[in-house]
Amino acid sequence: MINRREFVYSCGALVAAAHLPESPPVFYDLVLRGGQVIDPSMHLNGVRDVAVSHGRIVAVERHITGDAAAIINAHGKLVVPGLIDIHTHTTTTPQGPELVLQDGVTGWIDAGTQGADHIVDAIAIARSSPQQGRVLINIGRAGIIAEGDTMDLKRADVDAARAAIAKDRDYIVGIKARLSRDVAGVNDFEVLRRAQEAAAPFGLPVMIHMGQTISPLEKLFPLLKSGDIVTHMFAPPPNSLIDESGHIRLEVMAARRRGVWFDVGNGQNGHMRWDIVAAMMKAGFWPDTFSTDWNPNSRQTGVIDLPNCMSKLFGYGMSLDQAIARGTWKASRIFQVFRNRGTLNVGAPADIALLELRKGHFEFLDNFHNTVIGTQRLFPAGTVLAGKWIPRTEQG
Ligand SMILES: [Zn+2]
Repeated sequence: MINRREFVYSCGALVAAAHLPESPPVFYDLVLRGGQVIDPSMHLNGVRDVAVSHGRIVAVERHITGDAAAIINAHGKLVVPGLIDIHTHTTTTPQGPELVLQDGVTGWIDAGTQGADHIVDAIAIARSSPQQGRVLINIGRAGIIAEGDTMDLKRADVDAARAAIAKDRDYIVGIKARLSRDVAGVNDFEVLRRAQEAAAPFGLPVMIHMGQTISPLEKLFPLLKSGDIVTHMFAPPPNSLIDESGHIRLEVMAARRRGVWFDVGNGQNGHMRWDIVAAMMKAGFWPDTFSTDWNPNSRQTGVIDLPNCMSKLFGYGMSLDQAIARGTWKASRIFQVFRNRGTLNVGAPADIALLELRKGHFEFLDNFHNTVIGTQRLFPAGTVLAGKWIPRTEQG
């Protein structure tokens, strides 16, 4: 493949041969200099310069010569593809997209904040988002509500969901079914069945929020199809992915084999407990993606930001490259809208996260007030969105 510089040089040679003035030196919009570039989509981990022009990656090389309108000194920092968070509640505030952009998140999915009744509010925020943002429609037409989204089964309204999807097909990229006992109660199976019924004509994935369901997984999981997503995969019993003797349940293994994705969905309440994390990591059942389950309070909870969530499995055997992969290219495969993201390949849109890997003594929280101590944590240090440098304004 020819990169922009080689292309310009070869044009320059042709021009010189024709006795015309020499071509001017290459000029980039932005160069990130000397960072440790980690791009698992290309099996790359090394010190590189990254050049950007016209909103695209134009070169990733050891030494990029030529000038640039802006140069970011990335020495000592990690340069990775823009992060993709597939389970957020970014649309709960109009500032949501800007706030997660500060964390290096250049693509987000709002997972079921709204149902058919108010989905237009969520879509309005997605439309005005600086980065790519899309929504999953809650099968409960009132969205997330305190009394439980689908505790009243009438709220799991297939026709209402289908009508909303048909109207905003570009922005509604899937359906969310929250199945915990305090959300769906005894309706869990029927709610999931209706979510699939609503999704079917559009070929959309369903994301289930699992953990503490009333129905056992052997009843629920056969309803999951290839491309669906299970979030809150580290939820403790009742009905965890792993049984009391430390074995991943057969229906869970079968679901992964047929192409169901498994996502962390960190969250705040009831979704993640360190002993379950330890047992599942030991059993070799690792997440496909990290996600925060972000909301405007996340800075004050154990979530903090996506880089923090991505740091939580270092102590359970996950390498830095494996963590970056799950926040970038692996996440990019799940929703079509991100298919050309999650990579620093030349030609890709220039969405980049600058991170800092700090060494020290870091406390990582689960959702049950349990802390594990880690020796490394990723911190956001700046973002490039569509080729434009967005400095981090918060300290921390
Ligand atoms: Zn959520």
